[in-house]
Amino acid sequence: MSHVEEVAARIVAIPDHPEPGVTFRDITPVFADPAALAAAVHHLTDVTRDLGVQRVIAAEARGFLLGPALALELGAGFLLARKPGKLPRDTLAVEYALEYGSDQLEVHADLLEPGTRVLVHDDLLATGGTAEALCRLVEDLGGEVVACSFLVELSALGGRARLAPHAVHSLVTYD
Ligand code: IMP
Repeated sequence: MSHVEEVAARIVAIPDHPEPGVTFRDITPVFADPAALAAAVHHLTDVTRDLGVQRVIAAEARGFLLGPALALELGAGFLLARKPGKLPRDTLAVEYALEYGSDQLEVHADLLEPGTRVLVHDDLLATGGTAEALCRLVEDLGGEVVACSFLVELSALGGRARLAPHAVHSLVTYD
């Protein structure tokens, strides 16, 4: 089985969740299965290995599932983007729109040197709002976003176009 097949076989579709007409993609079985977990890390690092990634950045909570594993495998560091008020030192914040209202992500401002090559990661790309906010955080600190990587992409929601011109790598795509 290929890495993609190994992972795809473990993703469970939940029809009409959390509301009618929406199919939720449950990725927790990928993490429970040793072969699928290894395949996910190997695939996502294979496609980004030549980019000279120095830091991986991801948002709580589900970006933290694979973010540090990707960083370790790429020989990079990991940056935590957290919800407001969680980080104890000076932060840079970015606001981003949700379906209803808005939210913020914060990062410790002294952990990213200008010019650093950063990979943005999240478990799943839907509208792209979360990943776009991470790109803005990196760029506001003078870093360079070299690509965005996701375990799952829901292509009908247009996240890939929203993240352009950044390169997007996703392991499993659903229409
Ligand atoms: P976006 O900001 O609209 O791209 O949404 C991405 C975020 O929504 C990710 O951090 C996911 O954790 C979450 N998400 C949205 N839809 C799903 C789904 O079907 N399965 C798992 N997570 C989802």
